[in-house]
Parts: sequence; structure tokens; C-alpha cells
Amino acid sequence: MTGLYLINPVPDSQAYFGADSFPGGAWGGVQIVADLALPTLAAMVPPDLPVRLCDEQITPVDLDAPEPVIGLTGKTPQVGRMLELAAAFRQRGKVVVIGGPYASLAPEDVRPHCDVLVRGEVEEIAERLFADLRDGTWQAEYIGTRADLAASPLPRWDLYPNHRALMGTVQTSRGCPFPCEFCDVPTYVGRKQRHKDPPQVLRELDALYAHGYRSVFIADDNFSATRARARALLEALIDWNHSRPDGPVSFTTQMSIDVARDADMLRLSARAGIQAVFVGLETPSADSLRETGKRQNLQADPMEMVGRFLDHHIMVISGLIVGFDADGPDIFDRQRAFTRHAPIPVFTLGALAAPSGSPLHKRMVESGRLLPDQPYGTGQPWSTNIIPAQMTTEALLEGVTALARDLYHPDAFADRVLALVNRLGPYQGPPPAASPAPLPPLWQPLQDEVTQVVRGVVTLGPAEKAMVSRLGRHVLTHRPDALPLLRNCLRFYAQIRHVYAKNGFLTSF
Ligand code: SF4
Repeated sequence: MTGLYLINPVPDSQAYFGADSFPGGAWGGVQIVADLALPTLAAMVPPDLPVRLCDEQITPVDLDAPEPVIGLTGKTPQVGRMLELAAAFRQRGKVVVIGGPYASLAPEDVRPHCDVLVRGEVEEIAERLFADLRDGTWQAEYIGTRADLAASPLPRWDLYPNHRALMGTVQTSRGCPFPCEFCDVPTYVGRKQRHKDPPQVLRELDALYAHGYRSVFIADDNFSATRARARALLEALIDWNHSRPDGPVSFTTQMSIDVARDADMLRLSARAGIQAVFVGLETPSADSLRETGKRQNLQADPMEMVGRFLDHHIMVISGLIVGFDADGPDIFDRQRAFTRHAPIPVFTLGALAAPSGSPLHKRMVESGRLLPDQPYGTGQPWSTNIIPAQMTTEALLEGVTALARDLYHPDAFADRVLALVNRLGPYQGPPPAASPAPLPPLWQPLQDEVTQVVRGVVTLGPAEKAMVSRLGRHVLTHRPDALPLLRNCLRFYAQIRHVYAKNGFLTSF
């Protein structure tokens, strides 16, 4: 065999963190968060085997690829496209290998569509897998183990179109000890968290920095789950980020809300340059949180905890879910009240869904409440694959789309942005470089496209124009240091409105 073509397919429908709103549309050559799977896998391919990467979000798939072996990866929202590409390449006589989260969690769905199925983590089986592919002696199935992350190689970012991604990606841990019923993470990567040590993480960050990234997503499922290691890593990140020659990196990651009770963790996070965190608040209903096993959210008032992040200049993005068994028809109004004045502009609202491999999926199958063959993506308000306990599926989807419409009314969004800006404490991260190197010319077009997306919000209608003017005036007058944050919020707003409009339930106000 003479080569390997590795593909990360586009999602079947984009949602909150997609790039549909960019000038080129859904396949417009932009990735919000650089895909880590492809460069990591490429780094495990032996040097005598040529490898080519395709992040379909950035570059179209080359269906006439000369490589004899095609590798496909993907999560639940990419399944449709992943299987479509598998069929297209098999028709062309290629050997199709499928791995990644969905293949690991639902192997029976994937097996008929590929020649080689790779389940689980690949680090410790990579040598045999690639040797077999090279020699043409491949097996139908390979099963990976939970890898020692020290064995995870430095990703081959040199093969990736970095200038078309807004954020670089580093993963410092795998696994989450929490038992949230709707989540497939513990099934896929385990409840015992495994870690890279700080020097390994810093080597990866050095590479991202050298490639030009100044914004990095720490793609841990729960960065703060093992507090002592998180503290040690943050100390290392502080030293690293304060000594960047061309200015610091801004980090975003995912944490659970309980970390807000640990003032020291927040202080270290802020000093390291963490400026945004995704926190799954999910619901104001204590019964629903208990039902789903999210007990860490029950320990304190959630909005007070959010305020503690903001005090440290760390913006919170949050998930909201409707449709738990404990949710009656009043849940929509309860969510409205919960979010109305929250200092959280961006909520990823969705109907409860059961991904393959999650405990909820098992329970829904056992109780006959799984809607089979029902396509759904994660973090989308307009789809689910379960029958709710206290309402029909139709009532759930109607209620959640009406809630989405209220959540992203320009007045409601502006109120939340202002609540955030007014509460935001002073920036505590590394200072900007005295004379940062100019942006490489290759990177400039993407920055211009972000500006275009943000400016496009005023063209949505008079209410949106008034919203932007209200926000701009307030921030310029009272918190000019929050202008980059406002720009970021408006970029999210443009994307969410675009996706909602495309799905036909939020076109204008
Ligand atoms: S939702 Fe978050 S906290 Fe809960 S199990 Fe999944 S990764 Fe862990």
C-alpha cells in the first residue's frame, strides 16, 4: 500500500459551534476549533507511509484520492456524512477504515459500512494497525485499549490547514468521573481520568504557538475533575503563557460548576489565561439534575457560582437541556425564568437526547422509549431520539424551539451580554506583548471573515441593529476592555441565528 487519506467529515447539520454563518457557508473553509483527531492519528503513521489529511469543514473531500486506504473518524453529529463517504470510497474500490467516538460507541451501526472497524483508543494498537494496512494483511476489526496518554504523540499540525481554524486544540486529559446519564464520555474514555504531564502539554502548546495560534481550546471533557493535577498544569500554563514572545494565548475549556467553590482554582485559571469555560448547568430543576446524576450542580446556587467565574474575567458558556423525565410542561417557563437575566449570553439549548453508549440510551431501549432510526445531533433544539415521560416528543420539540426563540430574541440576548459585561472582573491573565509580531498574511483573511460575520448581525433586522447599537454604546462607554468579548458574543449570535433560521423556526423578530 502506498498511502493513507484521513478524513474528518462535516457534521450532518451544524449547531452552536459551527461555521455556517461565515461567508462561505457550512462548507466555507472555516473550522472554529481545529480538529485534533486527524493530526494525532497522522503522528502515529509510520514515516514510510505517506499520509494526507482532510478536515472537510475546511477542504472538500477528494473522492478521486489516489491513496488506496481511506480513514474516517467522527462523532454522533457526523454519522450520516461519515457513512455516505464510506460508501462513496468503497464504490471506488478503496479500503475504508472507520474509527473514532461513534464507531467505538455504536460498532454495530458502523461495521457493515467499512472494511476495517477500529474501536476504542488507537494509541496502543496503531503500530499493528498501520503495519497491517501497509502489508495488506488487515483484520476486520481492531480493539484499542484505554491508552496511557504519555504514548500519545505530538500531533502533526504541519499537515493541517491551521490558518483556516479560529482555535488550536490540545487535549490534556481523557475521561470524566461524573455519572451524567445523558453523556457518552465515561463509556467511551472511562470514568478514571488519565492525564498528560505538564511538559507533554507544553510541547503541544509550543507547536500550536509556532503554527500561529493565539487562541486554544483545551479539549478535556472535564478539565477540573482531578483538582490536584489541574492545579499543577495551571501553574505550568501560567509560566508558559507569561513568557510567550509574541503575546499570550487565550484558553477556553470545559469545567464542572463545582470548581467555582475553589477560589484558588479560579485564580490560577485566570492567571493562566483561561478566558472562557463551557459549564453544563442544564436545568433549574433539582429533580431533573438528581435524575440525570448531575449532583455537582446541586451543591450551590448556580448563578452565584457563574458569578465567581466572571469575577475572574472568565466568561461562561452553558448547556441547557429540556425533556428529562422530571420535566413537566412548566419546564419551559422555568427555563425562561432561569436564563432571563443570567450573565451567560450563549446557551447551547437542546432537547434531551440519548447518544449511543450513554446510560440514558440503555434505559430508553429497555423502557421502549428510544425512537429508532431517528437522526439527531448533539446540542440541537429541534431533534431528539427519545419519547419524553411527561409530554409527547412533538410537545417537547415545540416547547424547546419556542424557548430557543425567546432565548435569542435580540433584547434577551443584549440583556445577558450586559449582565456579563457589568459583572466581569478585571483581566488577570498574562499581559499582551509589548510589540507582538504581525499576523502572518495567510491568517488575515479568516480574521476579516470574522469581522464580516459580526457586522452581519445588524443586517438581520431592525431589532438586531438596535441590539448591536445598544451593546456597542454601553461597552465603549463603560467597559472598552470588553470589546473583544462583545465581538465574540456577536459571532456566536450570528451562528446561532443562522442555524435556527436554516431550520425554519427563528427567521425574524
Ligand atoms: S456531562 Fe460533563 S461532567 Fe457529566 S459525565 Fe459528561 S463530561 Fe462528565
